[in-house]
Order: sequence, then C-alpha cells, then structure tokens
Amino acid sequence: QIPVICIDGPTASGKGTIAAAVAEALGYHLLDSGALYRITGLAASRAGLELDEANEETIAEMALDLPVRFGADQRVWLGDEDISLAIRTEQAGMNASRVSALPAVRAALVDLQLSFQQLPGLVADGRDMGTVIFPHAPLKVYLWASAQCRAERRYKQLISKGISANISTLLADLEARDARDMQRATAPLKPAEDSLQLDSSEMTIEEVVVQVLTWWQE
Ligand code: C5P
Repeated sequence: QIPVICIDGPTASGKGTIAAAVAEALGYHLLDSGALYRITGLAASRAGLELDEANEETIAEMALDLPVRFGADQRVWLGDEDISLAIRTEQAGMNASRVSALPAVRAALVDLQLSFQQLPGLVADGRDMGTVIFPHAPLKVYLWASAQCRAERRYKQLISKGISANISTLLADLEARDARDMQRATAPLKPAEDSLQLDSSEMTIEEVVVQVLTWWQE
C-alpha cells in the first residue's frame, strides 16, 4: 500500500500550508484537492455557465477532462495559461464551493485525485480526503481553528500580498463557505471517525507540522 496522510478541515484552517510542509519533510507527493474544485469553478464560470444544478452534467464533463498541470512551487496550469493566482481569489473560492456541491462534479474528479497516490507517498489536503477519497489512509488529521482566528489569518495573508481586505466580510464569507461545505448532501465536511483532531487556533505552523509528523512516526 502506498502511504497516504489526509489533512482535512474547514476553509483557511491552514491545511494547505501544513500539507505542503509535511509533504516536503517526508519527500511525498502533494494533492491540493481544493485546487481541482477551484479550477473547475474557474473553467465553468469562464464558459459563462451558472454554477448550479441546471449545468451539473456540463460542468462535470469539463471536470473530467481539465487540461490541468501542476508545476513546481504549487504553480497550476490550465492548458498553457498559468492560473495559479486566478484560482486563489475569494471569488474563486466561492465558485469552487458552488461546483463542489454538485455530486456529478465530485464524481468526475475522483479518478484524478486517486492518481496522485504514488510512491513514496502522498499528503492529501481537502474536505473529504479521509472520509471519501482515501478511506483507508493510515493517518487522517482533521485540522481546524475558530472562525475568527481563520478570518484574521486570511486577512493578514491578503494584506501581506498588498490586497485590501475587510475582516468582517472575510468572516462572513468563510462562515457561508463552511455552512455550504458542511450541509451539502454529498461528501459533507466532517471529521472522519478515525481522524485525529487538531485545533490550531493557538498553534504556530511549525508546531502543527511537528504534531502531524509525530503522529505519522508513532
Ligand atoms: O481548500 P480550498 O479552499 O482550496 O477549497 C475550495 C472549495 O472547494 C472548498 O470551499 C470546498 O467547497 C471545496 N472542496 C471540496 N472538497 C475538497 C476540497 C475542496 O468540496 N476535497
């Protein structure tokens, strides 16, 4: 069995940063499953589609053969366009959350996600890595932090990139996204029964990485 470490949790819980650092420390591959939903949302909205049930099959077909490529430094390409920044906006996150609520779209992305499970191992970051995609993974971490704390982190991140932001808008967006992710019928966000939960509200990135690596070595 090729080892998989799942890191699931709500939006802006730090999963992406933690998953990348753990993958780097172990020399494992990295699956940023949220990026796949973001790319699908981007492609569908560019095609002028409303991101709802009416277009579910069309969006699922797009998801099935996305000309996507992941490069070094977490660069993402769609065809020959570098979309690394375009998929990171708040709007792209909202669009991702919309398309991810469509069961046919989720189904269309399963094989692509499974294909990341390669030697020497994989760190998979998302919402349903431990519950749906890799249910037999030996380590499943459910990473969370209070909504206020996540909004503040996102705020600092945006400001440091020179993007203006407003904490209360960020908090409201994040809570809306959490609610949609937790309430959807297919693969709702919830901790896997056999996951280890970690509240990172009062922890540094380094402390969280060390905790995950310690669990992995146990
Ligand atoms: O993690 P990230 O913020 O990039 O994910 C964007 C959106 O994609 C999430 O809000 C969630 O709705 C969706 N998603 C999902 N399942 C995953 C990863 C992301 O539904 N495994």
